[in-house]
Amino acid sequence: MLTCVILIGAPGAGKGTQALTMAQTANLVHVASGDMFREAMGKRTLRGLQAKVYVDRGELVPDNVTVAMVLDRLSQKDAEQGVVLDGFPRTVAQAEALDRVLDAEGTKVDLALNLSVPGDELLRRLSGRWLCRQCQASYHEVFNPSAQPGKCDRCGGDLYQRDDDRVETARHRLEVYFEQTTPVIEYYRRRGVLDEVDGSKDISEVGAAIRQVVKRRVVSI
Ligand code: ADP
Ligand code: AMP
Repeated sequence: MLTCVILIGAPGAGKGTQALTMAQTANLVHVASGDMFREAMGKRTLRGLQAKVYVDRGELVPDNVTVAMVLDRLSQKDAEQGVVLDGFPRTVAQAEALDRVLDAEGTKVDLALNLSVPGDELLRRLSGRWLCRQCQASYHEVFNPSAQPGKCDRCGGDLYQRDDDRVETARHRLEVYFEQTTPVIEYYRRRGVLDEVDGSKDISEVGAAIRQVVKRRVVSI
C-alpha cells in the first residue's frame, strides 16, 4: 500500500466529510468501517447480523469481526494505491492488528490525524446529519445542507437520518469514543505519526488545515 492516512475523531467530528474530499483530491480509496457495517446490515449478511446488535446500541463491534472486515478490504487490489481510513482503528487492539499487516508489507501508517471537536458541537452535528443512501455523502440540515432537500448533490440519491444518531444513542457513542478510542490517539503519538487539526471550524477551513498537514507529513501524496 502506497499511502495510509487515518482520520481519528469522535462521532460527528467530520471524518466522513473530510475523507471523501481527501480521497478525491489525493487519489486515495476511502475505507469507512461504519459504512461497511451499514452496507452489510442492509444486505443482512452474516457480518451484518453480527454487527447489528452492537451498532444499534451505539457500542463497538468486537475487534475480531471489525479487523477481519477491514483487513479484507485493504487486501483488495484498489487499496494498493493508498487509503484514507475513517472510523478504524477505534481500539488499540485494532491499531496493533493494522500495524502487523502493514509491517508484513514493509510499510506503515503515514499519518494519523486527530480531528478534535467539543462535545456539545458533536451532538448538534449528529442530530442534524443526513446521509446519502447511495454514496454515503454526509450533509447537515443547518451547517451543510444539500441544494435540493432530501437529495444528494453528488449523485442524486435519497438522504436519510441514522437511527444511531438519535440523541440517547449518540450520547452513548460519545462515551464509548472517550473510553475506548482516545487511547488510540496516544498509540499513534508514541509512534510519531500523530497530528491534530481543530475540527470545530467550518468545513472548508478544516479541509484546508488537513491539506496543509498532509502536504507536510505524507511524502507519497
Ligand atoms: P463523522 O464521519 O466523523 O461521524 P461526518 O463527516 O458525518 O462525521 O459529520 C457529522 C455531521 O457534521 C454531518 O452532518 C456533517 O455535514 C457535519 N459537519 C462535518 N464537518 C463539519 C464542520 N466542520 N462544521 C459543521 N458541520 C460539519
Ligand atoms: P460510524 O459510521 O463510524 O459512526 O460507525 C457506526 C457504528 O459502526 C459504530 O457505532 C460501531 O457500532 C460500528 N463501528 C464502526 N467502526 C468500528 C470499529 N472500527 N470498531 C468497532 N465498531 C465499529
